[in-house]
Amino acid sequence: MQGRRRKEPDLGEQSLLVVPEADGRRSGARRVSVMLPYPFPGPFDYRIPPDLHPQPGDVVLVPLNRREEVGVVWDHSAEDGVPDHKLKPISGLIDAPQMRPALRRFIDWVASYTLSPPGEVMAMALRVVPHGVSRAPIGWVCADPLPDARVTEARRKVLDALAIKQPRTTGELAHAAGVGSSVIRGMADAGLLLPSALPFVPPFAHPNPDNPGELLAPDQAAAAVELRQAVAAQTFSVTLLDGVTGSGKTETYLEAVAECLRQGRQALVLLPEIALSSQWLERFQRRFGVPPAVWHSDLTSRVRRVTWRAVAEGTAPVVVGARSALFLPFPDLGLVVIDEEHETAFKQEEGVVYHARDMAVVRARLCAAPAILVSATPSLETLANVEAGRYRRLTLPTRHGGAAMPSVAAIDMRQTPPERGHFLAPPLITAVAETLARGEQAMLFLNRRGYAPLTLCRHCGHRMQCPNCTAWLVEHRARRVLQCHHCGHTVPIPDECSACGAANSLVPVGPGVERITEESAESFPEARRLVMASDTMTGPDAAAAAAHAIEARNVDLIIGTQIVAKGWHFPHLTLVGVVDADLGLAGGDLRAAERTVQLLHQVAGRAGRAEAPGRVLLQTFSPDHPVMLALVEGDLAAFMGREAAQRRPGHWPPYGRLAALIVSADTAAEVDALASNLGRAAPWGEGLEVLGPAPAPLSILRGRHRRRLLLKTRRDVAVQPILREWLNKVPVPRGARIDVDVDPVSFL
Ligand code: ADP
Ligand code: ZN
Repeated sequence: MQGRRRKEPDLGEQSLLVVPEADGRRSGARRVSVMLPYPFPGPFDYRIPPDLHPQPGDVVLVPLNRREEVGVVWDHSAEDGVPDHKLKPISGLIDAPQMRPALRRFIDWVASYTLSPPGEVMAMALRVVPHGVSRAPIGWVCADPLPDARVTEARRKVLDALAIKQPRTTGELAHAAGVGSSVIRGMADAGLLLPSALPFVPPFAHPNPDNPGELLAPDQAAAAVELRQAVAAQTFSVTLLDGVTGSGKTETYLEAVAECLRQGRQALVLLPEIALSSQWLERFQRRFGVPPAVWHSDLTSRVRRVTWRAVAEGTAPVVVGARSALFLPFPDLGLVVIDEEHETAFKQEEGVVYHARDMAVVRARLCAAPAILVSATPSLETLANVEAGRYRRLTLPTRHGGAAMPSVAAIDMRQTPPERGHFLAPPLITAVAETLARGEQAMLFLNRRGYAPLTLCRHCGHRMQCPNCTAWLVEHRARRVLQCHHCGHTVPIPDECSACGAANSLVPVGPGVERITEESAESFPEARRLVMASDTMTGPDAAAAAAHAIEARNVDLIIGTQIVAKGWHFPHLTLVGVVDADLGLAGGDLRAAERTVQLLHQVAGRAGRAEAPGRVLLQTFSPDHPVMLALVEGDLAAFMGREAAQRRPGHWPPYGRLAALIVSADTAAEVDALASNLGRAAPWGEGLEVLGPAPAPLSILRGRHRRRLLLKTRRDVAVQPILREWLNKVPVPRGARIDVDVDPVSFL
């Protein structure tokens, strides 16, 4: 392993600053605009010292409020009206890879589309370039000549370990010499070791596109040919790869990745939950012999820096990542794949509010690269783009290896209700028991964490509510707490009612996965159970361990939240029971029906992926609801057709555009005042409509009062200029704010 250790330069090192050289070239007030990673309205102008020659994209250090900040030279001078003699000069250039024009255009584009300050968008692309400049150097070499200092035996070993004249890190050196790191520090203090920049070693092995992959079935092969052609064309295009669950979409689009590798360009694959994608990574490794570069929020800062550098230098040929990977500095992006494109996890709701699927298509266009959207349950947005001829569609109609689609049936909870105080209806209990008796695996799905979503007092009817939010506290019995799922507020489960003081009067109402686990322990005491929820599977290792336990058949019954719906392939799983199929349909969300069909179809798609046929049971109080009928009949296309027909006449997305304004303030009076000012200044005209202001469903969140307004326009109307003009008319008092959400997914 020693030989595979990777070295990295420290971007923050003082010595990497290029100090103005006195070459006496042109002087005079040359100015340049620099984008800083803060929510300013745009870049600022700086003076170029006579001996620096910054180019657009250069990473520079500039003074800002008596500090030095890292920024990026932007393309055009801001001409911000600051006279030449008042401009501050750039302090220096940083030895970091230039930010390419395609990424700068992308940042401008995202900022403009989402109405975010461009600096805030750029911050996502610059997150790993350190701001400070005086960090400890990270490599050591022998002083030559050696100073007059005591050379103990331990110190001798260290000097021997440096005989190859390559700088090595403290950790490497201590390991190679078999000494503690204090020895290294002592030697540095004594002048025996001198700091030195470490050479850069490319950290990612090259995936081999010609590694033999699986033999593709005819329809897979046909789709792969078209995808390869799209990559070889080296132009922008969008293709929807639409195939039933288990049809081998991954194997198929990996052929597009292979073609991209043959072209010598970089590929980006976006997954909705990269931390949970152990099976995907294993499959990639099987196909290409080596793992890809991975990008998500759980990485250590060292891995983050190495990966970022490698992407920038083109030595990370394939990156698989979460939505933030869109902002990596690819010099030659040749393919973007968005797997599970229908997933709402691609929408970032905090900070810069953007939809990674849509922005991925923009990123591809700006790089003249093809995009592939992959799903067994494509979003109506994507289907509308196919219908309009903007996207191409490839279909894999059957499961791989002759596996049949699972049979889906509804359990009418009115006809066959569960026993009192229980949540599993008799037909589901029987089906699970039969499945387990056959030695097959079963899964119970409930998209709700914790033990019970509501706790109330039997005596006075009081409901335990979050003090900061308009939300009930959710009981987590294993941790003995009540918790708010919106702000995280947590209290121990009280012994008495906080309203009437009655003792032992609090009762849980409704089920969460913990409660279903408890009930299954009663009903199936012999079954080996595994809970898959974000509380129990906290990272990639836990998820991988869970997947391996299921594959190795060390688990009989899986109980999970929406995590279990995401792409897993468990060949021995033959029964999926949906505990509350109606759950997602409550509330007036525009996409509630579409999303419920997608989620439940995906969960159902985990069943029967190998030889044994799969069976899915939906517990519902409304078996005649179009969503249940679509799932039972398995006719998603017809369902989506009806959804489209419902949305089209009212110009609802995707046949119109929406943008939400979320107004928040500390008091109800302040928020109402601002919201009604916005309402009075609302735009009007042909093809547009403003709904609200209305209290948000979460009318108080983290102690802030919230109101919503919704701008709805025809598709041919651009919402951004309208929003800008509208917002400009309404001053925002101190303490209040207006958040903009273009193409909202959540309406809370
Ligand atoms: P999807 O993503 O469409 O749900 P997967 O790509 O997960 O389907 O494929 C389902 C299973 O079938 C996986 O285990 C995959 O490795 C396997 N598979 C798919 N295509 C092939 C093939 N051509 N040869 C062998 N195995 C395949
Ligand atoms: Zn709360």
